[in-house]
Amino acid sequence: MPELFTTTVSAGWNFDNSYCRLPELFYKLQKPGLVQNPGRVIFNARLAESLGLNQEVLQSNQSEQLFAGNQLPQGAEPLAQAYAGHQFGHFTTLGDGRAVLLGEHITPEGQRFDIQLKGAGRTPFSRGGDGRAALGPMLREYIISEAIHHLGIPTTRSLAVVTTGEPVYRETALRGAVLTRVAASHIRIGTFQYASSFGSAQELQALADYTIQRHYPALMAVDDRYVQFLQAVMDRQASLVAQWQLSGFVHGVMNTDNIAISGETIDYGPCAFMDTYDPATVFSSIDRQGRYAYGNQPTLMQWNLARLTEALLPLLHADPSQALAMGQEAVQGFYARYQRYWLAGMRSKLGLTTEESEDESLIASFLDGMAKHQQDFTHIFRLLASDTLHQAPYFKEPAFAEWYQQWQTRLQRQPQPWSEVQSLMNAHNPVVIPRNDRVEAVLSAAVEQQDFLPLQRLLASLESPYTELPQHVEYSLPPNPGGPAYRTFCGT
Ligand code: AMP
Ligand code: MG
Repeated sequence: MPELFTTTVSAGWNFDNSYCRLPELFYKLQKPGLVQNPGRVIFNARLAESLGLNQEVLQSNQSEQLFAGNQLPQGAEPLAQAYAGHQFGHFTTLGDGRAVLLGEHITPEGQRFDIQLKGAGRTPFSRGGDGRAALGPMLREYIISEAIHHLGIPTTRSLAVVTTGEPVYRETALRGAVLTRVAASHIRIGTFQYASSFGSAQELQALADYTIQRHYPALMAVDDRYVQFLQAVMDRQASLVAQWQLSGFVHGVMNTDNIAISGETIDYGPCAFMDTYDPATVFSSIDRQGRYAYGNQPTLMQWNLARLTEALLPLLHADPSQALAMGQEAVQGFYARYQRYWLAGMRSKLGLTTEESEDESLIASFLDGMAKHQQDFTHIFRLLASDTLHQAPYFKEPAFAEWYQQWQTRLQRQPQPWSEVQSLMNAHNPVVIPRNDRVEAVLSAAVEQQDFLPLQRLLASLESPYTELPQHVEYSLPPNPGGPAYRTFCGT
């Protein structure tokens, strides 16, 4: 067994760990568990560089010890965070059961990022779990989070995946792995629920002030900062879920512990991108009721934000009835915020630069047709701006031809020439998304054959999702129709 020690090699780590200055209610000091035989799988050199880390040092032979949790970077003060959450509607006490926060790295530009090891062993919050993670799901998180990032959607990032050299036992024995996750923070709606359920008024306020300072610092100076904080979180989440809808992303497990206050997409489990457009799309095998179906995501985000609002009530106003009224107003305002972001995004996807009252019905009838004719969401949007649209079978459907005429007439009422409309559309409609069949193929090559080349190639294609490149054509094609329904598993 390697010894746990502090490395002195200068990789550029610059830790300033503010979370462990919060009241002790919010965490337990916890070192990562040691592992037998760490092995390198993937390292995100570009992300390391953007964090001001020395990628050569981090790519050296020792780095797998660090990414596996056997060595601690200088300045790390590892801990497991406490939180609670509503899981599929039921309130539960949770906490980092298999993740350890090493600390907060400050970049040369002064940005603060959590560096967390996921799959780093048991913690006081592990309950019956082993604290570990398997290689497949950790690579899946790496792929999808990087894809989401390159699409321009706020998200946690993935710095590295290493294997542990130890098995993890699920239905079968799987290869154990650790993912290094980089996040604006890991403060969740569930962190506030935890404070409100188990903390004092002072502890709740300490968490709120800490979060405002960290993510919404301009609000520190305003009188009603907690109300404004709530509104600001609503706004970021409205924008986030609109971007999920616009890209066909299904998070899959939107429990309140998986919603970050920073507005980043977090906790990639059974998530996937929709191929054929269908608002009822669900991938997760455990979501039997379809609670987190694609079309439900905005409503469920509002439900989650209502839980955040409840937790914050004592801070909104000293008079409980006034606090309740303020909270209700904030929650009711969510859907209009979401709708604004979604409509603006849909206009861009259709190349509309001006606003007309009939735009919503134009968008709705396009989506209806797409659903009725079982078209691929990503492909059809991209096709609209392409010069080969007329060759597509869907173009020959009378319903589409009629819609196409309406859309062309609408485009003529705005000043931009077609070339500009095309550029706008191409900047908002990706060519490449992580297609489910291709993700599965890459994961099976990596996990079963230790062949990481397909993974590297897929990741390269996801780095420029809006650009048509000949070498990426194989990643842009929709799956063959009639294939089996795609299912995802939590893989914990
Ligand atoms: P998730 O569904 O991944 O968001 O996890 C829900 C909760 O279960 C969190 O508190 C996790 O830390 C915990 N958890 C998930 N997998 C494990 C595991 N293998 N061992 C211990 N805790 C886990
Ligand atoms: Mg989670």
